[in-house]
Amino acid sequence: MPITDSFVLVTGASGFIASHIVRELLARGYRVRGSVRSLAKEKDFLHLRAMPFAERLELFEADLLQGGAFDDAARGCSHVIHTASPYVLDAKDPQKDLIEPAVQGTRGVLASCKKAGTVRRVVLTSSMAAITDEPESDHLLTEEDWNTKSTLERNPYYLSKTLAEKEGWKFLQEERAGFDLVVVNPFLVIGPSYSPGLNTSNQLFVDLLKGTYPGIMNLTWGFVDVRDVALAHVLGMETATAQGRYICAADTISMRDVVALLDSKGWGEGRKLPKLGLDCSVGDFAVKISSYLQPKGVGSYLRTHVGRVPRFSHAKIERELGLAFRKVEQSILDTVEDLKKWGHIA
Ligand code: NDP
Repeated sequence: MPITDSFVLVTGASGFIASHIVRELLARGYRVRGSVRSLAKEKDFLHLRAMPFAERLELFEADLLQGGAFDDAARGCSHVIHTASPYVLDAKDPQKDLIEPAVQGTRGVLASCKKAGTVRRVVLTSSMAAITDEPESDHLLTEEDWNTKSTLERNPYYLSKTLAEKEGWKFLQEERAGFDLVVVNPFLVIGPSYSPGLNTSNQLFVDLLKGTYPGIMNLTWGFVDVRDVALAHVLGMETATAQGRYICAADTISMRDVVALLDSKGWGEGRKLPKLGLDCSVGDFAVKISSYLQPKGVGSYLRTHVGRVPRFSHAKIERELGLAFRKVEQSILDTVEDLKKWGHIA
């Protein structure tokens, strides 16, 4: 049973994660509003129109950088799930391309919610990037942790997520907004996509299978399935007692284990899975040196992640929202199957 007869707005509705949220909301009987950047780009949201119960979905046009852009979409909504934010590791102009849309967008969406006067809760998609940009093997990350290291030069996407989430909490503190805020902090989100576009996080598997990596690096990724992330947002919206931030991450897996998994299931045949072992101290050194030849965003990611194993607790989301995570190995296999379906890999 839906918890509201009013509308639920999902910003950035055509995106990888948001499409799953829209589908979950429609399936649960909600009346959904989705914002897209341009209503003229119909092919970007055809998949939303084709979803079961899409007769309960209305689309609005809204750009994060335009003041008041979300006023119409938020009017009459009881709940808003704000996912829209640029997700690219390598931006030409990080201030303009990442920070401004992320921060102004969050403020703009929350201002529209306040203006609407009907919104009871906003669920914000933040990221593990707002928790840390350089995991330390001897520190268990929890919702208490904040990324204090990212700059425009170093992991600027991480900075955009940190500043956007802080803007959200600041808005709530300073304005008598009349709604509460629940924040979901996912790690790398993988899984099947409803749209033909290739998400930045799923790109990782395309790169692995197409030989972009020179060898097996000492990288350990934290993953979470997009279907679990979507459910986390909906549970964050529906659970009356939900509060604060929620780390949303299933587990970690090393690049070596990902390669072994893909190989064992036949994905290596005829493709270019990395073979050369760079996951040793000499390899770490070589990767760090060669990272300076990479595009800036990729380079700083490598320097802050090579040789580091993220450790985190997802106890809060399991306990308070009742979320049970899918196994990372199955998510990886579902992802590559889906990438093949969409033609991203041969
Ligand atoms: P997508 O790129 O698929 O979705 C991002 C959405 O934001 C798109 O709908 C995009 O619209 C929209 N958007 C970007 N800039 C603007 C703008 N200026 N005005 C209006 N809309 C805009 O990525 P994801 O689904 O992966 O990301 C969704 C959210 O999840 C983001 O906040 C991201 O930071 C966060 N996240 C993602 C993770 C991941 O691994 N994928 C991990 C942790 C957090 P358009 O299609 O027009 O560009």
